[in-house]
Amino acid sequence: MSLAPSDVWTRLLDQARRQLPEQVIRTWLEPSEALKVEGNTLFIGVPDRFAADWNESKHGQLLASLAPVALGHPLNVVFRVHDEQKTRPQMDFFVAPLPEKGAVADTLASANGQLSGRYTFRNFVIGKSNELAAAAAQAVAEAPGKVYNPLFIYGETGLGKTHLMQAVAHDILSRNPRTRLAFIGTEQFTNELVSSIQSRTTQEFRRRYREIDLLLVDDIHFLKSKEATQEEFFHTFNALYEAGRQIILTSDRPPSEIPGLEARLVSRFQWGMVADIEQPDLEHRTAILKNKAALDHLELTIPEDVIGFIAENVRSSVRELEGSIIRLLAYASLRHRDITIELAREALRDKLKDSNQTSETHNAGISVATIQSLVAKEWGVTIEGLRSKVRTKTLTVPRQVSMYLIRELLGLQLVEIGAAFGGRDHSTVIHSLDRVQDELKANLAFQSRIQRLRQQLELLRH
Ligand code: ADP
Ligand code: MG
Repeated sequence: MSLAPSDVWTRLLDQARRQLPEQVIRTWLEPSEALKVEGNTLFIGVPDRFAADWNESKHGQLLASLAPVALGHPLNVVFRVHDEQKTRPQMDFFVAPLPEKGAVADTLASANGQLSGRYTFRNFVIGKSNELAAAAAQAVAEAPGKVYNPLFIYGETGLGKTHLMQAVAHDILSRNPRTRLAFIGTEQFTNELVSSIQSRTTQEFRRRYREIDLLLVDDIHFLKSKEATQEEFFHTFNALYEAGRQIILTSDRPPSEIPGLEARLVSRFQWGMVADIEQPDLEHRTAILKNKAALDHLELTIPEDVIGFIAENVRSSVRELEGSIIRLLAYASLRHRDITIELAREALRDKLKDSNQTSETHNAGISVATIQSLVAKEWGVTIEGLRSKVRTKTLTVPRQVSMYLIRELLGLQLVEIGAAFGGRDHSTVIHSLDRVQDELKANLAFQSRIQRLRQQLELLRH
């Protein structure tokens, strides 16, 4: 029986560990996923273009040379960008060419190349938290442009929005390979528009967008407060909508809560179906884990009680659940140990800590108070001032920064963060996080100041 791609990759990594420093393995090779084996080539998905190029040039040959030892036959290793939404280098625009005779399969394959092959309905586990969104998505797939237009899916990060959106695209493409689709991140849309304005090619930009059948825009909350982009998006939206083309949007919050979003866009986003995805409950998490384990590792089985243990303890997102499975399997196979609860506890040590976090507990040496006092010191204000409701400029910035770092490093809920700052409500916290994020993008000095704080805090972890 031939090995699953993930097992091939695990074997290669085992060999590579003897040749490369642990740090290199951890930084470059472990954040990856075996996608498939085709002929003599193993395709490995990595998070961004930089990692793909780096691995290809630095480790490609070594890995190929290890194959005969690890596997008993030669094998090339090719790296590909896998985690689309984060790091697409430029706008992802796909218009399927009209298929020629016999070319339908090719068209499908290349269309799928723009989407993630894993993000299908088949691989999407439905539970209470996502059943409305999933049902709406299925209805849209069956009758694009007809039932819910636009379909607006929102929810916190890692809960399956991108997956569901792409599942619709896969489904529509399989029914009609001629579908012209665009899957883009909102930031790419913005960048593309800006550069088309600079190069005076906005006509071309518009034409391309308005000729498609299915528009998928991921993370539309990034559209906030960029007027030219909102204007352009508004017209694109109208053109497609009026032509009966399907539009699907995702966001981390509902339309009415996206700060700076023009009223006319808010109302358009609400025309069709607005569906949210919430945190999966225990039963749902268990089902997702089982599904995931079955998909990836047919040969290594994860015992029921271990699945139960993970479902019980890792609660933050589906992405974290997946990460836990991957980590656990790697941990077990590298150490040649059986998969038990004991092993899971060991392998997932930091994930378990993170998701059991509350404002009172310490995250391996860092607490809310530690962050507040470090930031207060950095900005020369008092910790009482930070926690107070006083709204002077000298206090606002460090207060926002503290909230931001608490969210990032401790992963507290918005309400918990609000509580740590004199009982502010969650929309104030959202606003603060956004302000810091904007400032980080715009201001290099600020960025390095924050980076320095992060490093100081990391040193306190044990
Ligand atoms: P979001 O876009 O909401 O941040 P993603 O769609 O990227 O989240 O999902 C994160 C990961 O979790 C993906 O690998 C996805 O396949 C997986 N996932 C999310 N929800 C489900 C689900 N209901 N069933 C199976 N896998 C899921
Ligand atoms: Mg996403």
